[in-house]
Amino acid sequence: MSETFAYVNGRLHAEEVDLARIAETVGTPFYCYSTAAIAQRYRRFEAAVAPLGGRICYAVKANSNQAVLATLAGLGAGADVVSEGEARRAVAAGVPPERIVFSGVGKTEAELVYALETGIGQVNIESERDLELLSRLAVAHGRHMPIAIRVNPDVDALTHAKIATGKAENKFGIDIDAAPRVFARAAALPGVEPVAVALHIGSQLTDFTPYEQAFSRVAELVRALRADGIPIRHLDLGGGIGVSYHGGPAPDVAAYAEIVQRTVGDLDCALLFEPGRYLVAEAGVLVGTVIDVKQGATRRFVVADFAMNDLIRPTLYEAYHPILPVIEPLLGATTSVVDVVGPICETGDFLARDRALPPVAPGDLLAVTHAGAYGAVMSSTYNTRPTVPEVLVTGARWAVVRPRPTYDELIGLDRMPDWLAGDSGTR
Ligand SMILES: *Cc1c(COP(=O)(O)O)cnc(C)c1O
Repeated sequence: MSETFAYVNGRLHAEEVDLARIAETVGTPFYCYSTAAIAQRYRRFEAAVAPLGGRICYAVKANSNQAVLATLAGLGAGADVVSEGEARRAVAAGVPPERIVFSGVGKTEAELVYALETGIGQVNIESERDLELLSRLAVAHGRHMPIAIRVNPDVDALTHAKIATGKAENKFGIDIDAAPRVFARAAALPGVEPVAVALHIGSQLTDFTPYEQAFSRVAELVRALRADGIPIRHLDLGGGIGVSYHGGPAPDVAAYAEIVQRTVGDLDCALLFEPGRYLVAEAGVLVGTVIDVKQGATRRFVVADFAMNDLIRPTLYEAYHPILPVIEPLLGATTSVVDVVGPICETGDFLARDRALPPVAPGDLLAVTHAGAYGAVMSSTYNTRPTVPEVLVTGARWAVVRPRPTYDELIGLDRMPDWLAGDSGTR
């Protein structure tokens, strides 16, 4: 776990703030992020890639709270976005549009128009349809858009199947063998200028061999494109650098940078990196309260007020997240093996299975750690549970950066059609 979450006087703190104190004020469940942890990961990544001339565009989808975006923008990050909504968040949080890269499969016409009108720095093209459409729109709007073409290098990222994106069978990018033809087409089209090759082979990579294979293939492609007279000046190497959810040694960004240097370092290309998870995963915890401890016929359940709608990674990706009591257990406390579950009506509603936990009782606070990435952003209101709020800490200060909606706000979003509105008909 990040050093910024630690027990101080027997109570788990985020930097200098007692998580139990936040719980008293905000209620549970809530996410809590540490500014210091984000800054530390950012600086570590930057130190590894800056000598290669690399720039960082934070992948907004990992955690898109505007306070997090503003924190990263303040550290110098641009943004990698995959929807107009994310682009708008990044702009609203103070990321200059020219430092935003618009990635993603299946961009709509409205999204491309938004990118053109807002002055987004680069659009990453993932299909020939994207390319033709963007060219037509750019001409119509009198704009000129630098583009990257995202290639699919057909490499197995050796990660969970649901977050592998660089195999030929995945929907992402353009088959690397077809890339020279698509680049030639792009070079001939008005309104767009192909300046970069992009790739992103998957998320939560802990073994970096796939990067080595993928970047080598891209280097070969860049040489071939240049021989065809297409002057590639930039490489967008994507994200995917993993974190250690089990508390082992973190994947080493210096080793990653070394692979980058060895494979594409001699191409004289400006490099762009799009880390998401690496920068924020360890910077967040999800805090909840134990509601019940229940002995089933074969298993023991700790039922808490956080659930799969707040953090879906365990059930969606079979992800492991450490869980700590917010009040430090006594030294040598005996543990028992439990399933930590939420109140949702789904068997998939668990945060941990077969987990050894020290004794817990109703009312105790639990912190699910390493929850800063793909946590709150994937939350939902399933079972009409209010969206989990978010808190950001810096030093001894903290602030609610997304409040919990009230029940009225939550259910008030529905509208009655006139045939159900009843006598008054006022709804
Ligand atoms: C998701 C994504 C990223 C970030 O992935 P992480 O595993 O969070 O680093 C980067 N680039 C693109 C195009 C993505 O879709």
